[in-house]
Amino acid sequence: MTDARRVLVVEDEDKLAALLCDYLRAAGYEPRVAMDGPAALRAFAAEAPAAVLLDLNLPGLDGIEVCREIRRDSAVPILMLTARADEIDRIVGLEIGADDYLCKPYSPREVVARVRALLRRSQGRLPGMAAVPGLEVGGFTLDDAGQRAWWRGQALPLTPIEWRLLRTLLQPPGRVFSRAQLLDAIHVDFRDVSDRAVDSHVKNLRRKLQASLPGPDAIASVYGVGYRLDLPAAAFPPPLTSPAPD
Ligand code: CA
Repeated sequence: MTDARRVLVVEDEDKLAALLCDYLRAAGYEPRVAMDGPAALRAFAAEAPAAVLLDLNLPGLDGIEVCREIRRDSAVPILMLTARADEIDRIVGLEIGADDYLCKPYSPREVVARVRALLRRSQGRLPGMAAVPGLEVGGFTLDDAGQRAWWRGQALPLTPIEWRLLRTLLQPPGRVFSRAQLLDAIHVDFRDVSDRAVDSHVKNLRRKLQASLPGPDAIASVYGVGYRLDLPAAAFPPPLTSPAPD
C-alpha cells in the first residue's frame, strides 16, 4: 500500500541525504533513503513511496535509468535532482518521465515545497478541482481522486503531469491551448519550468495516446500558438439514422 507520507530519497551523498530527510521529517513526511540505483529500485518496490526524490548521478545505475525503471509501471511523482542546469535540458530531452526538476545547490526547503506540490497534484487535491470528481469526454474517462485516465476502458499509463495536461486539453477538445496556459495547468505553484519542458511533456503524452487511440495523432501542434487535442472520429457514436449492415 502506498503511504501518502512516505518519500523515497535517492542520494549517494550521505550528508545531503540526511539533510533532506531532516527537512522532510519536519514537514511531516516519512523519508526512506537509498544510496545507489539498485538500492533505489529495491526500496521503491518494498516501500511503495508516494513520491521519489531522485539524484541524477548515482553509483550502480544512474538516475535516468532508475527513473525509466520506475516509470515502467508506476506514475509515482518523481522529482529529479541534478548537479548542473544544463543536465535538465538533457534529461527533459530524454523523456524519461520525471515530473519536476531541481538543480544543485537547492534549498531543502524548496525541495520540500516541490514534493508537497507534486503530492497535492497526484492526490487530486487541487484548487478548483476538488468539487469535480472526474471527467468523461469523447471516450476518455479521467478520475480526479486517483489521477487515472482511460480511453474506452483501457488504462492510459500517464505521469501526474501528463494526466494534468490531458485533463486541460480535454476542456474542451478541439480548443487550442497556448504553452503558457498548459504551463499554468501543470505547474500550479512554480513558474520556472521552460516552454521546452511543456513541449517535452506534450510529446510524451502524444506518444502514449498514439499507443492507445485509433487514427492520426490526437494532439496537434498549432504553429506559433500551442496545442490542440482532437478526438478521434471513432470517439463519436455512429449517427442514429445510419442504415443497419446487411
Ligand atoms: Ca550524486
